[in-house]
Amino acid sequence: MYTINRAPKDQRGVILNCKLCSHSVNVNEFNEKLGCARTQAAQAMLKHVHNQHSKGPTGRPMAQTMERWY
Ligand SMILES: [Zn+2]
Repeated sequence: MYTINRAPKDQRGVILNCKLCSHSVNVNEFNEKLGCARTQAAQAMLKHVHNQHSKGPTGRPMAQTMERWY
């Protein structure tokens, strides 16, 4: 008998890097209880791009940008 410990390692060390500057968002900084941490991180990165670079696509940017980052 043994136990397989399945730690959710896919959530660890996931970092989104801004392609326009050195800004990065660590997924670990977001609370899973508030929703998918990766989604929150992606939204934070989108906000950064909008605020700092004003290059984010307007309208519904999530679908496109999420695919690029993952
Ligand atoms: Zn940036």
